[in-house]
Amino acid sequence: DLSHNIILYLEDISVSFDGFKALNNLNLYIEAGELRCIIGPNGAGKTTMMDVITGKTRPDVGSAWFGQTVDLLTLSEPEIAAAGIGRKFQKPTVFPNHSVFENLELAMAGDKSVWKTLIAKLSGEQLGRIDEVLKIIGLTERVEALAGGLSHGQKQWLEIGMLLMQDPELLLVDEPVAGMTPQETEKTAELLTSLAGKHSVVVVEHDMAFVRSIARTVTVLHQGSVLAEGSMDQVQNDPKVIEVYLGD
Ligand code: ADP
Repeated sequence: DLSHNIILYLEDISVSFDGFKALNNLNLYIEAGELRCIIGPNGAGKTTMMDVITGKTRPDVGSAWFGQTVDLLTLSEPEIAAAGIGRKFQKPTVFPNHSVFENLELAMAGDKSVWKTLIAKLSGEQLGRIDEVLKIIGLTERVEALAGGLSHGQKQWLEIGMLLMQDPELLLVDEPVAGMTPQETEKTAELLTSLAGKHSVVVVEHDMAFVRSIARTVTVLHQGSVLAEGSMDQVQNDPKVIEVYLGD
């Protein structure tokens, strides 16, 4: 039964703001281990969709399930994060005056006090996890650097690393390559691709070359619902999609 591989179900989700439908019967299914890109013109509903998944916005109607058993619409934002959904916003929000290591340590501790976290002795297992995440994000060499002194790309990778400290099953990533150099963009493609399989990754991104380089399946949102879904070639050649993007 294929439905057992689905990690995220959004069914018939509608969200209105003062009568304006930001989401309009949205249906989205993400498979476990998938790397999915969400594209669509400004105002298509991408941010609102992420907000529904993380509990920041409640839909007027519809259902949202994480795996087979977790009804997202009954959980608060922190409960959804604790259930295994991590979200990275566009702007990096690292602790600039702490080292890369300390940022990962703080992320592992969650919302415990900074001071208590930094004086606590780490277990071998915790140190091992930090080491593992440093390797994944490619910042082993910068472990002692202050996060504030990292390049824009490195800050973004650190923030992805901070999410990984909580080992989320599903990662939501908002415009990861905005403002990056081509080299940083390429490294980010490698990073996100390497996370898929172990994690499910949903990426909202405007950079089409980047989307092409990472996504197997692309979902195009328009006016709050799914306009097209398929490979990048399929959606880019879809007349409905061409019309929406030329008219944008
Ligand atoms: P996208 O991320 O694809 O650009 P959004 O989800 O941000 O789209 O927005 C979808 C539509 O909903 C837009 O027209 C936006 O102006 C509107 N919208 C989003 N959030 C609010 C809000 N809090 N109040 C009123 N309108 C909103």
